This record gives sequence, structure tokens and C-alpha cells, in this order.
Amino acid sequence: MGMLKTEYKSFLDDLEKNIKNKEDLEYIKKRFASFVDVMLTQMDYIMDYKEEEMKKLQQNQNEIQTKVDKMQQILDNIEKDIYSDDGFDFEIICPYCNYQFIIDVDEDKKEVECPECHNIIELDWTGNVDDDGDNCGDCDSCPGCGGDFPYDDDSDEDDM
Ligand SMILES: [Zn+2]
Repeated sequence: MGMLKTEYKSFLDDLEKNIKNKEDLEYIKKRFASFVDVMLTQMDYIMDYKEEEMKKLQQNQNEIQTKVDKMQQILDNIEKDIYSDDGFDFEIICPYCNYQFIIDVDEDKKEVECPECHNIIELDWTGNVDDDGDNCGDCDSCPGCGGDFPYDDDSDEDDM
């Protein structure tokens, strides 16, 4: 608004210089001052309105950012689950007592002791390690490639 003030002052100076009649000058100054008053009020109103709009926009922006952050967090967690450094969890069902437990995938491990009945269970890593179905690339029968062949072990497949 600095420029407007300067303009206003030079306008008044100009009036004083060019209007010789003092009464006329006073009248014009007064009349113009009240006009400027209305104009400034109107401009204040517009500025307030804009400010409010900006605040609303800012708020929306913040909400969107919060949502994006949340989504990023979820994505990070999913990624962590998929590419966990700890390797995949492998679900074991003890053939002796049917106790169900989780071990980390470790292809060097050939057997594991059931924590329930303490029998030794042989591990066969050639089976389906990933129940979600990896695409093996060259068949049409594995879950990844679109087929739904029944698992030959009785793992956690849901009965349809
Ligand atoms: Zn067992």
C-alpha cells in the first residue's frame, strides 16, 4: 500500500497547488478523503477475504500433506514387510502335533525343532516359501502365473 499512500499525498499536494480558492480546496479534500475511506474499507474487506481464502487453502494443503504422510508411512511399512532384512517368515505346521509356528527362511537350515512337542521337523525349501504366490515365470499352474493349483501341504489355504 506504500505506493498508494505516495500517490494520495502527491494528489493532495497537486490540489493545493492548483486550487487557489481555500474553501473549494477544503471541500474537495474532505470529499475525496471520505471517498478514499470507503475505498480503503472495501480493500481491507477484500484483503481479509483473500487472507481467509489463503488460510483455507493452507489448511487443505496441510490436510493433504498429512494424508500423504500417512500413506507414505503405510507404503514404507509394506516395503519393510516385503523387503525385510530379516528375510521371509516361513510358517511351519508340525506334522507330529499340528502346532503352528513361524521361522525365518534360512535355506541352510535343514531341520527345525518343534517348540511344542520337540520333535525334529525336516525342512524342504523347494516347496512354496511364499504363499502370496511368486511368479515363477514359465508355467500356468503356480499361483503367481495365474493358476490355482492346490497346495500339497495343508498350510494356511482357506477352505472355499
Ligand atoms: Zn510338534
